[in-house]
Amino acid sequence: MSTFLAQKPIYRVKCDNKIGQPCEATFEADNDFDRGSDRMTRQAARGAGWDVPPPRGEGSRSPFDFCPEHKRR
Ligand SMILES: [Zn+2]
Repeated sequence: MSTFLAQKPIYRVKCDNKIGQPCEATFEADNDFDRGSDRMTRQAARGAGWDVPPPRGEGSRSPFDFCPEHKRR
């Protein structure tokens, strides 16, 4: 077998700020393990100060994600 994953999936979190100028900020985890998973990327973003609601069923408040600059807390 010489099959390999040529390009890894990389997840990013994008800021959903819609007030004023749309925000271009995105977050990408700093390691391949977290980058390759939607859930781990969101967890890493929370750790980095992003306002990222927990997954559904864990007290999710809003469908929007915000960068540290635009979070509403
Ligand atoms: Zn933002």
